[in-house]
Amino acid sequence: MIQSVYIHIPFCHHICHYCDFTKIFYNESMATQYIEALGKEMATILPGTKNKVRTIFIGGGTPTALNITQLKKLLDLIHEFFDVASCEEFTIEANPGDFDEEKIKLLKHFGVNRVSLGVQVFDNQLLKDIGRAHQVKDVYRTINDLRKNGFENISIDLIYALPHQTVSNFTETVKKALSFHLPHYSAYSLQVEPQTIFYNRYRKGKLHRPEQEEEVEMYALLRQLMTSHGLNQYEISNFAKPSYESKHNLTYWNNDYYYGFGAGASAYLPGKRTMNIRAIPSYINQANQDGYPIMKVDSIGLKEKVEEEFFLGLRKRTGINKKQFNKKFGFPYDRIYQKQVKDLIDKNWLVEDKNHLRLTEDGLLFGNDVFAHFLLDESDLNHVN
Ligand code: SF4
Repeated sequence: MIQSVYIHIPFCHHICHYCDFTKIFYNESMATQYIEALGKEMATILPGTKNKVRTIFIGGGTPTALNITQLKKLLDLIHEFFDVASCEEFTIEANPGDFDEEKIKLLKHFGVNRVSLGVQVFDNQLLKDIGRAHQVKDVYRTINDLRKNGFENISIDLIYALPHQTVSNFTETVKKALSFHLPHYSAYSLQVEPQTIFYNRYRKGKLHRPEQEEEVEMYALLRQLMTSHGLNQYEISNFAKPSYESKHNLTYWNNDYYYGFGAGASAYLPGKRTMNIRAIPSYINQANQDGYPIMKVDSIGLKEKVEEEFFLGLRKRTGINKKQFNKKFGFPYDRIYQKQVKDLIDKNWLVEDKNHLRLTEDGLLFGNDVFAHFLLDESDLNHVN
């Protein structure tokens, strides 16, 4: 069964200095055309209307940058193609300040039950320096408005290792975020990606990021503060109170199937991963022409499926569940990964017990190095076929 659906809304009222997501400045007429194109894509890809999924996630971009008419049209579309009543988690991403009570009430009315807020830091100067449009006071107002209208499943996104950010400044941010007693928090270290303002500064030697040791210290502090406030780290960058783990993101880390609609969206469907056209005008044109705005289709055979099960599964603090792996693939992972697992246990980057294989505390700091050990050659699978 396809577990989840991701819908990408690529419009923003401003462009942040670090952002390499598929996005464009909000333009009213283009946003209206885009939502119509989304409807054409859904009508072509989906087997019918009222499809059942466990989770729906509207991400961006900034979905709440849409005006109220467009937001309603989008929600109508989702209700036409998905059985929202049977969906367990329906999330929208939002930016503090982009969001008024009229939009909040509309989301509530249409069954949205989780809001993920792009807060990033609690420091007005730093917010300005990274190109965010909101201020700290907007976070307080938005969370207050959400709660007043019955939203309690709210998540905050934070960023660390930003230029000129100190360990004590980040500690303050985490403490302020925790003072809301929310059920879920995410925190990612800054990645300097090509085609961003930060990347240009970095190439000119003008991006002053914290040292590696400070970044490690920020991550350690984050983990310690989250844990001491009763939040369980269930993934490398995600923390939740019991039963508030993001069901949608767990679809990705469990390597389960999901639809993806909109410019730049990817989907994982039986036997293939697809990626949509990123340029928004081209996406709209192609969706209007044949409802199939897909740029790339990759076949996913056994090799890719096993590799991804490891890359994604090890991100979870519970790691790889041995029984579930066996059930999914029909063989134990020892048959192909015995040497890699042993080497990484010897390095103290992995730990194995009767039921699970997972990252150690040290392994958490070297996630990408660990994952690289699980790339396979086709011949590695000869003895399991
Ligand atoms: S609001 Fe989000 S999607 Fe838009 S530019 Fe900033 S980081 Fe990127």
